[in-house]
Amino acid sequence: MKIIKDKNKLRSLIQNDKNLGFVPTMGAIHNGHMSLIRKSISQCNNTVVSIFINKPQFNKKSDFHKYPRVLKKDISILKKLKIDYLYLPTTKQIYPDGPNKKIKINRFEKKLCGKHRPGHFKSVVDVVDRFIKIINPKRIYFGEKDMQQLKIISDYVNNKYRNLKVVPCKTVRSKNGVAISSRNLLLSKKETIIASRIYNILKNAKYKLINKKININYIEKQINKFNIKKIEYIKVLDINKLIKPHYSKNKYRIFISYYLGKTRLIDNI
Ligand code: AMP
Repeated sequence: MKIIKDKNKLRSLIQNDKNLGFVPTMGAIHNGHMSLIRKSISQCNNTVVSIFINKPQFNKKSDFHKYPRVLKKDISILKKLKIDYLYLPTTKQIYPDGPNKKIKINRFEKKLCGKHRPGHFKSVVDVVDRFIKIINPKRIYFGEKDMQQLKIISDYVNNKYRNLKVVPCKTVRSKNGVAISSRNLLLSKKETIIASRIYNILKNAKYKLINKKININYIEKQINKFNIKKIEYIKVLDINKLIKPHYSKNKYRIFISYYLGKTRLIDNI
């Protein structure tokens, strides 16, 4: 595994690779990231993983500062996975002239997380676009855990890059059902148990909700019994359009965002 900080050096190493896989991450590598990386290794000649905590996409400075940073551990996991390149760019290399706040992206950005995190998805797409230009991969891997992000990026990439395929990867969960996330490191034991109970409530309620045997208010009441700080949203939507379901052939998921203490968790089930 080569560790590279300089974009020109990275470019010179990968420029002739016609089947390159790319997995962008913000580090604190866990089983969720690892499933994306394994998929890339199985589908591509070489795999580039990036670790870059993208400041512009954080709505709160404090959130950015407390984001887990465990680079040594990450490097040892990635070495074991046998990726080819770990790209660790500096902010200056990614944003020589600052971020592009005017980037045009799908209107999905106004829904769900986007309503509560203005500009967040624009910043995500901006940074992904910059990485694509540097790396020029054949395939880029994203997790369904962040379904809204996946849909917005797929739309952007499909419109702009003809030869690049966005590969969606299933959500990886802990044994207790909670979707694995770098932010889970910030949860107390008690909060982890609550997150697991909330997952079970949603999983058991999913089909009753879709068939309108119960409604969202009922689920919200159940979740609020745990005295959680805030439910930001909870909605049943068609994953392809991020709108309320109309026809039974559509694929529905329950989308949720909530706070346990100061930690914001999202999931779709
Ligand atoms: P992050 O480091 O949180 O920006 O995540 C990097 C990539 O890993 C994104 O495409 C995420 O959707 C994906 N990812 C994060 N957690 C999971 C998970 N539990 N299962 C599958 N993919 C995940």
